[in-house]
Amino acid sequence: MTPVTHFADKKVALFGLGGSGLVTAQALVQGGAIVTVWDDQIQARDKASAIGLNVRDLQTEDWTQFSALILAPGVPLTHPTPHWTVAKAKSTAIEIIGDIELFCRERASLAPQAPFIAITGTNGKSTTTALIAHILRSAGHDVQLGGNIGTPILALEPPAPNRFHVIECSSFQIDLTPSLNPTIGIITNLSPDHLDRHGSMEHYAAVKERLLVQSDIALFSLDDAFSRAIGERLQHHQKVRAIAISLHENPQNGFYVEGQTILAHLDGTKTLGHLAGLRTLRGAHNAQNAAFAAGAAHLLHLSQDEIQHGLSSFPGLAHRMEEVGRIGHVLFINDSKATNADAAEKALLSFEDMFWILGGKAKEGGIASLQSLFHKIKKAYLIGDAAQDFAKSLEGHVPYIQCGTLDVALKAAAHDALASKVPEAVVLLSPACASYDQFSNFEVRGNKFREAVTALVAQHKVN
Ligand code: ADP
Repeated sequence: MTPVTHFADKKVALFGLGGSGLVTAQALVQGGAIVTVWDDQIQARDKASAIGLNVRDLQTEDWTQFSALILAPGVPLTHPTPHWTVAKAKSTAIEIIGDIELFCRERASLAPQAPFIAITGTNGKSTTTALIAHILRSAGHDVQLGGNIGTPILALEPPAPNRFHVIECSSFQIDLTPSLNPTIGIITNLSPDHLDRHGSMEHYAAVKERLLVQSDIALFSLDDAFSRAIGERLQHHQKVRAIAISLHENPQNGFYVEGQTILAHLDGTKTLGHLAGLRTLRGAHNAQNAAFAAGAAHLLHLSQDEIQHGLSSFPGLAHRMEEVGRIGHVLFINDSKATNADAAEKALLSFEDMFWILGGKAKEGGIASLQSLFHKIKKAYLIGDAAQDFAKSLEGHVPYIQCGTLDVALKAAAHDALASKVPEAVVLLSPACASYDQFSNFEVRGNKFREAVTALVAQHKVN
């Protein structure tokens, strides 16, 4: 836990008592603040009371007593409309901040030079964050990994001179962090997402950009127009060392991927690592994530051997093209995180000869955009609400069957894949859909798939 001392003896209001809200309230109390907490959900309030927090209805409190409103990132700050606590805070002109801001203030007072790597972007945040943490850890460093990925930032150990904080930041968290000033800031890429919460692509990109403008070193991509424009603007920030990453061009000042090799082109050209044969970093999207991670590690003075060792030993993240089993020439891949067509595209690009399980709660646009990859699909196995619509897109291009549920789909796909004559058949769960029609979230869906594959593999060994 990182006690927050910045508000010692001051009164603050905290709204939003999910996992990170509860930790934040505790960290503030530990640091000596007088904290009043609230949430719309009674269960959340009960949890807070049970751990001794001061739960009071902030609607009826006198807001002139508070020095700040600490907001959970899931609570709307601007779009679609500001939450009522935001209006209250504005009416008394107090600051509205989140847990990462509190961390930044503690870092500034405890160990301002402590290495702090902050990662955002539309896609690849978690993979890049986990990979950087893994490379640093495997080189023997003390690493704290958290933020938008798993552990709330204030649940981590406090900043210290030789301790690396590797933190994933969502746009909502950045919006609540005015003094975000990492040692290395990273935007992996930018494309339209969460626009309901940000109003427009321009506003969304502007929020993300804030992560880079106060970084000591800013890493950005040349490969999408929004990131590229940010990179150009960063040239005017004299305090920021802006460094580009690309899969398509040699940036002259930056990192790039040529074939399967990650290269640094800073003072001369240097090889940082090789991706050939790395099963947890398949595909161009992962090459981008790996280039950011290797680049960051290089800038943090790790050697080529340390970087390569970290890349090679990366276990990968669950539900993102995760290998969950093999029977003979059939490989089973859990890509349950692919909740839309863009994400599923990454898996379809990464494998050949697929037996594709897809469907669930459909997103706008369906799978029509994936048509150019349909030739790689041997057969499709449809589940969930989207099954009828997806069948229309597949008709005439890919053989398919309606399976209804994941269990049925897996059995049918495994049967066909085992009977196939291709060198490596891939049974791929990459649903291109949300999971809510049949599962509580994509993790539950992926875990069910993994369990079913494990049982199938065991059964096969017995037979
Ligand atoms: P995030 O944390 O930003 O959601 P993840 O690392 O969890 O990203 O990856 C989620 C999905 O996004 C992956 O399953 C893959 O389909 C896609 N993805 C990952 N990295 C990238 C990337 N660099 N560019 C585009 N898509 C990516």
